[in-house]
Amino acid sequence: MSAITPGLVCAHHHLYSALARGMPAPPKTPANFQEILEQVWWRLDAALDLEMIRWSAMLGALEALENGTTAIVDHHESPNAIEGSLDVIAQACAEVGVRSLLAYGITDRHGADGARRGLAENERFIRAGGRGLVGIHAAFTCTDESLRGAADLAEDLGVGVHVHVCEGVGDTDAPRRLAGLTRDDWVMAHCVHLPTDHDLRGTIVHNPMSNLNNAVGYANPVRFANPVALGTDGIGGNVLEVFRLAYVLHRSVDVTCGPDPAWSWLENGWDLVPEARSDEVVWSYDPMEPWHVAFTPGVRPLRVAVGGEVVLDDGRPTRVDADEVRAKAREQATRLHARL
Ligand SMILES: [Zn+2]
Repeated sequence: MSAITPGLVCAHHHLYSALARGMPAPPKTPANFQEILEQVWWRLDAALDLEMIRWSAMLGALEALENGTTAIVDHHESPNAIEGSLDVIAQACAEVGVRSLLAYGITDRHGADGARRGLAENERFIRAGGRGLVGIHAAFTCTDESLRGAADLAEDLGVGVHVHVCEGVGDTDAPRRLAGLTRDDWVMAHCVHLPTDHDLRGTIVHNPMSNLNNAVGYANPVRFANPVALGTDGIGGNVLEVFRLAYVLHRSVDVTCGPDPAWSWLENGWDLVPEARSDEVVWSYDPMEPWHVAFTPGVRPLRVAVGGEVVLDDGRPTRVDADEVRAKAREQATRLHARL
């Protein structure tokens, strides 16, 4: 019996969405996933500046730490504040004491120049020593040239690619568009509409809460031969809660299943950020075992050590003032919402 686990990994996050809460409702209620992108996320990301990005990352990293998540695999987009954005996020995560693996999601939605600048941000950040993957928003918003450019750059840099795949029905062409480009070090978020038999290589990240929220369907990730990990897709940093949801959703299509598959998805995060395995989280519940955790909502970390340093003690961060981070984030959220 143990109340201790390694640090958890959120394998697909969008720290920039931390300030979305409380944003004004879109002029027209989105009726499908494409409209949710167009009317919510693509308006929000276009309004971001570096100061907003900084405080959304500080808040998102803080909330991850408060939930025992010591490593964040982030996918970032801010088309009007591209250059330097990954440094700002890396710095914020480091300040809070959380590990990060960052990517700028390139897209041709704003023209070829936007895609080129996104690619350059990935390259600049990683060549300067930043811990990153090369980001692609999704095949359906990129030209073949951009997809190839990102894959080539990643290969050149010796890192993987972080990309959304088949999240909605508008991206069902992705397996054909990405054929021959993917490798085992790719991170493919969602794969809801990816056929069970496909040729894409890499880790599939299951984001059940986001998929339900966007009404895109159930990925049923147990059907894939690829490794599967768990992410929040920007809805906070509590991957234990995602594990719980992943388990009951699996159960909803197979009443004979136990929580072990979903627990193994949680553990696969350590293949993406191996150092998190040496982090230590002391939880409010003992034992931290799949059948227990699956039925114990509200479990929280009491103490978290990252790389041997205690960064959360008695449930409070040691490196930053949580009240100040929340106050600053609220100020930036007000600025952001005023632009929408
Ligand atoms: Zn995402």
